[in-house]
Parts: sequence; structure tokens; C-alpha cells
Amino acid sequence: MKDTENTTEHFDIIIIGGGAAGMMAAGTAKENGNYLRILLLEKNKKCGEKLSITGGGRCNITNAEYDLKKFLKNYGDGEQFLYSPFSQFGVVETFSFFESHGLPLVVQARKRAFPITENSPDVVRVMENYARKNNVIVRTNEKVSRIIMKENCITGVISKKREYSADVFIFASGGNAHPETGSTGDGFKWLQDIGHTVYAPTPTIVPLAVKEDWVKILSGVSISFMKITFFSNNISKFSQKGKILFTHFGLSGPLILNNSSKVADLLKGGPVTAKIDLYPDTNLGALKEKILKVFEINKNKLLKNVLPEIFPAGFKPALPLILKNNLQILEKKIHSITKKEREEIVSILKAIPLTIEGLMGYDRAVIADGGVPLSEIDTKTMSSKICPNLFITGDLLNIRRPSGGYSLQLCWTTGFVAGKHAAEKINSKLKIF
Ligand SMILES: Cc1cc2nc3c(=O)[nH]c(=O)nc-3n(C[C@H](O)[C@H](O)[C@H](O)COP(=O)(O)OP(=O)(O)OC[C@H]3O[C@@H](n4cnc5c(N)ncnc54)[C@H](O)[C@@H]3O)c2cc1C
Repeated sequence: MKDTENTTEHFDIIIIGGGAAGMMAAGTAKENGNYLRILLLEKNKKCGEKLSITGGGRCNITNAEYDLKKFLKNYGDGEQFLYSPFSQFGVVETFSFFESHGLPLVVQARKRAFPITENSPDVVRVMENYARKNNVIVRTNEKVSRIIMKENCITGVISKKREYSADVFIFASGGNAHPETGSTGDGFKWLQDIGHTVYAPTPTIVPLAVKEDWVKILSGVSISFMKITFFSNNISKFSQKGKILFTHFGLSGPLILNNSSKVADLLKGGPVTAKIDLYPDTNLGALKEKILKVFEINKNKLLKNVLPEIFPAGFKPALPLILKNNLQILEKKIHSITKKEREEIVSILKAIPLTIEGLMGYDRAVIADGGVPLSEIDTKTMSSKICPNLFITGDLLNIRRPSGGYSLQLCWTTGFVAGKHAAEKINSKLKIF
């Protein structure tokens, strides 16, 4: 601790982590006690690094599902626990919050809500102003390296610059996804030391790595309507219809991201393969007829010039690899394609095989599963049931959810509730003494 200043600075509330949850908690605490001394410690040069890359730079702030019951169904086992915090600050409050801070939201497909500017840095700006405007002290470049405990309470934290003490602490240091944004899972270690259960983080909502090169050639191409079926040890396990995005490492897009945890479960049981059906609403017989008709119309053309008509747009560069066992067929005139060859093409259209090598890592994950179970949190206040002066928020909590704005809504909700009740805890103490 040579580079640490000797004096310990005291605050009423210290928040660790200047992401979505931390900034919401800081601003809300201050609004509930303007005289409180509140410190936000962030290890990066600036707050909101992850927030600034959300939603592909557009920030999917929440999901405009106003029916609380329906909304909470998206949080799996967390549903029951989350009624209380969401009835304090839910989707409606999120809309009003951003509107009242000069950034109205717009609702797009699948009820996903974005800032009207569709620009994530605007969300970071609103949140930072919210934390700073009431004189929350925000210290960046302040990595907390240690927590100081006395009995079962936290008394202080040590950063690379100095030691701080406080009456109440809010942990908002995030999970493990995209560690380059500062989320390196530091809070999980402290929570374990305090005595909390911490489920091991695994990347969820994450793209899939696949072996086949034809997928990689199609990087950037998406097909909007297909069916993918996953197999474990060659046994069909589940299918989904929708849109797939091909990338230079494998498969992505909302459908893949939202099913990645199911694929992760399958991978635990052995090799996983998949088949893509490019004509999910056409049965095999009807597809054979359809392709026969296309071939009849184009019988004097080369197959390679006709295939782009029956494969989705953008597939052309991958066709030689998809047909790798039968490349010379591409140079044949349609009228000389045999029935067997034609039916092989139909079977490829109905079931292009893929080998799933695994899930991409934390660097590509939208969220990482894991963290503290909600059973160890008093979700009316977001306080720890183990450490009475600690509140826990955001990605530190073990809550499975899909993409579509549900993660950030959790941060706004848990940050608000933690900030409010942390301030009230100090307020009630001041009244007593
Ligand atoms: C690429 C990507 C896109 C996403 N898009 C969306 C989307 O559009 N909509 C949506 O709902 N969700 C989205 N998410 C998920 C969402 O961004 C997260 O759930 C959310 O940002 C988590 O916020 P948080 O405040 O809990 O943690 P974080 O945002 O991870 O913030 C934690 C902060 O704590 C700091 N910190 C960590 N350790 C320390 C320490 N020791 N000392 C001091 N500071 C520390 C970190 O530097 C960081 O700034 C996306 C995630 C990714 C990775």
C-alpha cells in the first residue's frame, strides 16, 4: 500500500462500479438524501464503458412490455423475487426517467426500446449527469482492490490511491462479459469472501462457434426465415425458427443469442451438431416439386447460375463449399442434372449440417450467467441478507434473461431500489442518533 494516501476518507455511501446500475444507484441515493456524502468509484478512465457499446451502439434501454406479469416471465426463476423491485421502478418509470432527462425513448420491433437518438453515448451522458448533478463524488481511475470487513459488515475499501470508509456500500461492479470494458468479475470474489454463494459465471447470450468454413465465408449475411435444429449425440433436441446471422467465427443474431444457454447445456452432454432448414414451411415433397419447376424453366442454364435462385440471397460465395463433395456439378447444365443429384440439392436445402464447436467466450458474450442468487437478497431493498450494510445490483445477480432490453432494465431497477434504500438506511440512522 505504499502508493496509498494515509488518511481514510469517510462517506455515507460508497458505490463500486460506474456502469448502468452504479450510476442509477448513485443518482437515486443522492435524490433521497441531498445532504448525504456519496462516492462512486470506477476503475476505468470514464464511467459507462459497457453501456456505450450496448445494442450495437444504439442501446436497447428496456422492453416496452407494460404488463408486469408478462415482463417478469422473462427472468426465469427470478420472476417471483423481482415483483417488489419492479413495482418500485419498472418499465414505465424507465420511460419517464429518460424522458424527464431529455432523452425520450422509441419502441421498435419486438417491443425493444431505444433512445430517440439511437446513440448509446447519449444514455451514458444522461446517467453520468444524473450521478454528478447532485454532487455525487465520482472518482474514476480508482480500482477497488480490497474490501475491509468488521464482523459481518463492510467498513471500508482500498483502492490503488487510498482507503475509504462508509456506513453503507453498494456493489455495482458488473459481471464478466466483455472484460475490456472493466467488467472483470472483481465483485464475485468479494461477495464470496463475505459469505455469499456465487454461481460460477458462464457466458450466456453469446454467439456459437462452428467448424464449417462456408459459414465463415458468409460473415455478415443473415437469413431471416429458417429453422435450425440442434442435435446432441445425433439425437434431435430442439428447433427454433427465425433469423440467423453468419459471422467469421460462427452463428449469431437474436435467435442464436437467446438459445445459447440451451446449447451450452447440450454441450455438457457431448458433441452438438445442427441442421439448417432453408425452407421451414415447405415439406420435402413440395420442395422437390418446387425445385423441379425451377429446373424445368432454366434447363439450358448452368447449375451454378440457377442455385442462387433457390438459396437465400448472399449465399453464392458459400455454395462451392456447401457442395464440396460434388463440385463439378456446378458446371453442369440443368438438363443433365440427374434425379439423384437434384434430390441431393433438395436435401441440402432442408438440412445443411453444422458442427457446433462451442460458445464464444466472455469477449463476445452479452451477459455472463452466474452471480449471487436472489434468495440471498432482500429484493424489497436489494440489500444482502448476509451483510447488513451491503446492497447488490445489476450483473452481479444470478438472473437468466433473454436479449431485448431485459438486462439494462434490471440495472435501472436494482440500481434505483438499492440507491433509494441505501439512502433511507442512513436517513433512519440519522433520525435515531
Ligand atoms: C456487447 C454488449 C451489448 C449489450 N447490449 C445490451 C442491450 O442493448 N440491452 C440490454 O438490456 N443489455 C445489453 N447488454 C447487457 C448490459 O450491458 C449489462 O447487463 C449491463 O451493462 C450491466 O451493468 P452493470 O452496471 O451491472 O455492470 P457493468 O456495466 O459491467 O459496470 C460495472 C462497472 O464496474 C467497474 N468495476 C469493476 N470492477 C471494479 C473495481 N474493482 N473497482 C472499481 N470499479 C470496478 C467496471 O469498470 C464497470 O464500469 C449488452 C452487453 C454487451 C457486452
